Amino acid sequence: MDRFKVEVVAQTPNPQQTIYAAMHQDYAEGFVWHERDRWPDETECGDIVIKHLLKGGRGHYGPLEHPQIVLNCGWFPHSTMQQIRTHRVGVSFDVQSFRYTGSRIIDVAAGRQAVEEVFYLRPLGLYSDRQGKRYEYTKAQRQEDLEWCLTACRRYQERIQQGFSEEHARGLIPFDVRQHWVLSANVRSLMHLLDLRWKTDAQLEAQKLCEHIWPHFKGWVPAIANWYEENRLKKARLAP
Ligand SMILES: Cc1cc2nc3c(=O)[nH]c(=O)nc-3n(C[C@H](O)[C@H](O)[C@H](O)COP(=O)(O)OP(=O)(O)OC[C@H]3O[C@@H](n4cnc5c(N)ncnc54)[C@H](O)[C@@H]3O)c2cc1C
Repeated sequence: MDRFKVEVVAQTPNPQQTIYAAMHQDYAEGFVWHERDRWPDETECGDIVIKHLLKGGRGHYGPLEHPQIVLNCGWFPHSTMQQIRTHRVGVSFDVQSFRYTGSRIIDVAAGRQAVEEVFYLRPLGLYSDRQGKRYEYTKAQRQEDLEWCLTACRRYQERIQQGFSEEHARGLIPFDVRQHWVLSANVRSLMHLLDLRWKTDAQLEAQKLCEHIWPHFKGWVPAIANWYEENRLKKARLAP
């Protein structure tokens, strides 16, 4: 759907072994690093950590806080960034602020970029409001909204030409301008974010972000992703 994109910038290379080592140090008499040649392999470590930390609601999540993944999220609407940025425990962000950038808004005004490359509008279709009342977003309405975005870009361009700073002129553009950001999280904090933002009543675009994050998470910590899929995914099991 749409232009949304999530790519991996970096990730802990042996995450399940890392979790295993942290868990093992909880009860090992010795210094676990000395035993590193005897640690089970990445796949076996995945099975061991599920059995001893997560299975049956054990809830021993601490060791899952060590491996980190760094993701580049792109072309999401500003509202999605706002929602995701509310997660602050074990998650860190660097987000485009539009204080230093804005040339793509001028590019839209000048016809060098498509409006939809820079602004997000929902697809055509049937929606419902928070009270369950249904309505349709029609082709004609969407076209009007595209023109609204274009008009705002022209005003932005005019103000920049008059000497305004980007920080000042950004207040004139529509709310759901597309934004890119870098997010880092650990295995535990990323699962918590998925708990809250992949629920069926979460905002549509936040759910789409989770869909784009998921293959990276699954490829990185497959045993934990399988456990998550069976026990938590979209089940609205919320943290206290
Ligand atoms: C459906 C939905 C609607 C929402 N609507 C709004 C809204 O209208 N306006 C708005 O501002 N926000 C809104 N939020 C954001 C929400 O209030 C949380 O800020 C957000 O979901 C972050 O999750 P978290 O608190 O679990 O934080 P995380 O940073 O993900 O924290 C992880 C966990 O750490 C613990 N923790 C974190 N911070 C604290 C703390 N300060 N004190 C004690 N324990 C802490 C909690 O157990 C928490 O669950 C909404 C969220 C959802 C899912």
